[in-house]
Parts: sequence; structure tokens; C-alpha cells
Amino acid sequence: RVVTRFAPSPTGHLHIGGARTAIFSWLLARHFGGSFVLRIEDTDRERSRQEYTDAILESMRWLGMDWDAEPIYQSRREDIYNSYIDRMVEEGKAYYCECTPEEVEAMRETAREAGDKPKYNGRCRARNLGPGEGRVVRFKAPLDGRTGWVDLVKGPLSFENAELDDMVIRRSDGSPTYNLAVVVDDHELGITHVLRGDDHVSNTPKQIMLYEAMGMPVPKFGHVPMILGPDRKKLSKRHGALSVMEYEKMGFLPQALVNYLVRLGWSHGDQEIFGLEELIEKFSTDALTSSAAGFDPDKLQWLNAHYMKATPDAELARLLAPFVEQAGFGHVDATYVAALVPLVKERAKDLPEMVQAMRFMLVEDAALEYDAAAVSKALTEEGRQHVGSLRALFAQLESFTKESTHDVMARYVEESGLKFKAVGPPLRVALVGTMGGPNLPDVMEILGKDRTLARMDRALS
Ligand code: GLU
Repeated sequence: RVVTRFAPSPTGHLHIGGARTAIFSWLLARHFGGSFVLRIEDTDRERSRQEYTDAILESMRWLGMDWDAEPIYQSRREDIYNSYIDRMVEEGKAYYCECTPEEVEAMRETAREAGDKPKYNGRCRARNLGPGEGRVVRFKAPLDGRTGWVDLVKGPLSFENAELDDMVIRRSDGSPTYNLAVVVDDHELGITHVLRGDDHVSNTPKQIMLYEAMGMPVPKFGHVPMILGPDRKKLSKRHGALSVMEYEKMGFLPQALVNYLVRLGWSHGDQEIFGLEELIEKFSTDALTSSAAGFDPDKLQWLNAHYMKATPDAELARLLAPFVEQAGFGHVDATYVAALVPLVKERAKDLPEMVQAMRFMLVEDAALEYDAAAVSKALTEEGRQHVGSLRALFAQLESFTKESTHDVMARYVEESGLKFKAVGPPLRVALVGTMGGPNLPDVMEILGKDRTLARMDRALS
């Protein structure tokens, strides 16, 4: 049985690096029909905020990464961690230490001067101290040998035990430290595979020592390299958006972001496009890449354009709603907006672009803006005559559909012996306000007869 987890610290929004790790863990669990657990690592009380937890959960939902069972919060589990610590002290696997931070710093300095790794020198290790004011609990780490594992991403890794401190597992204020809490939680949750960022590689030997000391099975670990900017430097704000929420606000589709992030660090031949079901089926940690990947905004755009075309109109209309509202058209009927989707979806790369492209259909007829250059080019004396004649013909139509308006235009062009080029552009400018845009009979069918005629009248006035 496979159980994976994602363990964000709620000290900020879900960034794309964290999201990618979360997606990998989710895919691993789903691939094996296992469970995926969320753990909120909110032990840093100063920096953790409920609003960040809410935002992270919201981003996970938006990405489609569902989790099993209620998320667990480390801040509510201090008693559990402490019971494990107490047991280790009882069993002689951990000990109280009364050395002050200054004394520990001096030991480190001495080691440094001797050319060794700076570390605590183990002074209280054999003193059998009990609890007391200002005392921490330290783990009695093995003094020699090596601690290693076969990393699912990086292959075999190991560390010299002599290089590691007797780490503090309970601070003098009684709070358990990070590595201890993670090990207890991963054990209690039955986590079988830990996928996380490779900034945690140095924690892993310490965690493995704790598992071994407590006689608990050690999960498999995989450390995913971080995402770099397009310039191969550490990804930062100057490279653009960093959080999942910002991508949502910019109008990217969740499937596009998921597909993009997965391919940034995982591959299946040279295939680029994967639906979620396909990812679940094909995902394997064997194909995770160990070299850092560079973020490529153009490729994300390209995938987004792909998913815009592939997403059903009704679903696109739903995703579009917040952007329509933002553009000031929140009052426009949702069914009407949905009808506009097929007109503009082929050409738009993202949702805001789609709203932009349907803007001429969202404005009131009396508020349609005319592009001056297009007007002077197409609404010439002759152009206006054609608009006037077509207006009269359209007015006689009983059934106002894309077929009927198309037929009227075709007949008009044929009977007057003109080219469509002479008739189409003036009508387009009258209805759309510019030279571009979707097929006119489609536009007219959605506008309906009254609004079509109203726009033509206004252009002629
Ligand atoms: N809370 C840690 C982080 O956000 C994750 C630790 C882990 O996955 O073990 O970096």
C-alpha cells in the first residue's frame, strides 16, 4: 500500500516549486491506488498564518489535487511528539543537555579552529541529567558509520555520521523540533514514500537516524531538484509569478499548469501533452529527472493555448466568469457569455485574452467603440451604402439565423456583381467596431435581429 503526503509550511502561498512536489506525490499515490495526505507544518507560530493554510488548500483544489482524510496540523500534535521524545529519553536514546547556546557556539568554534565540522561536543551525553529550566533534549546520534539511502530521484546518497551533531529534538521551551515532528508524523501516518524538494536532503540522514533509533520502518525518499528561472538562476520574483494563485489570476487553466509542472522534472519519451488520467497511469518515480529544470513561460503559454482549445465550452465559460466580472461585465447573463465562447476560443491564449476578444459583444450596443482607422477605411460613402442596403434586407428576415443572414449577404454580393471584400468590411466595422473578429453570421445570430439593426443604425448615424 502506498501512502504519500504533501507537507507545506503555511508561511506563504503555494509556490510552483511546492505545487510540483505536491503533484508528484499525488500522482504517485493515485498511480498505485494509495492515499495522499496533507499535513500543515505550522509549528513556526510567528510566521504561520491560517490565511496561508486556506490559500494553499484552495490552490490544491484548483489544481485538482484532492487529498484523503482531513489535513493534519502539526501545531495540534505537540503532546504526541513529546511522548515519543520522553520514550527516547527513558530508553537512553536521547538525553537532557544544559549547555547554553553560548557554550554550544564556543564548542563549534573550537571544532572549526581544529579544521573539523562545527558541532556540539557531546558534553552532556553521559551525564544522565533530568529535566530542568533551560535544558534541551538531544538525540544520541551514532558516532561512527554512515547513514544512507537510495534516493528515488538522485540514486544512492550517504553521509558520515561523525559529521552530524547530537541534534536537539526538544527545545528549552518544551517544543519539539522540526526533524523529530516530521519523523513522528510520517511514521504515524504510515507514509511509504516521501517526495520533497532537495533543499531537504541534509535533513534526511538525521530523520533516518531517528527512525532507526525508534525502531520504525524507514520510508523511501525522493528529492526533487528545484525549479530555476529561464536564466538558470534560482527562481525568484523577477522571473514573474511564483505562486499558483497568481497563475490562476492571470487566467491559466489548471490542467495547463499541472501538465507544465509535471513535465518540468518528469518525462515519458518526448510526449508533451498529458491529461490527468494519463499522468496517473504513466507516472513513475523512475522517470523523475535529477537535474534542475528551467522555467519556460513560453511553453506554459503554449500548453495553455492547447488546453483552451481542448476544454469544453461550458467548462471554459465557468472558468471565464471571474474574468468577465473583473472586466466590468459581471451583470452580463452567463448563458449569453457561454454562447460567445466558441466565437473566440480558437484565437485566445488565456482567459483574459478571451474576455478581451469578446468585449465587443459584452458592451451595450450604444457603447460599442469604433476604431477610427477601420472606420475611415471601410465605412466610406460606398461602404455606408452597402450597410444601408443590407440593413433593409436584414429587417425583412423573419428567422434571423446565421444561415439566413449568410444567404442574404451572399445574394446581395452576387446580385450587385460585387466582391465580398467590398461588402464584408463595412458591415464588420458597423457590428464589431474593428476590422478583426469572428465570423459575422455567428456574431449576428448571437446579437439577434434588434441589436444587429441597432448597431448598423448607429454606424450609419
Ligand atoms: N514543510 C516543509 C517545506 O515546506 C516540507 C517538509 C517535508 O516535505 O518533509 O519545505
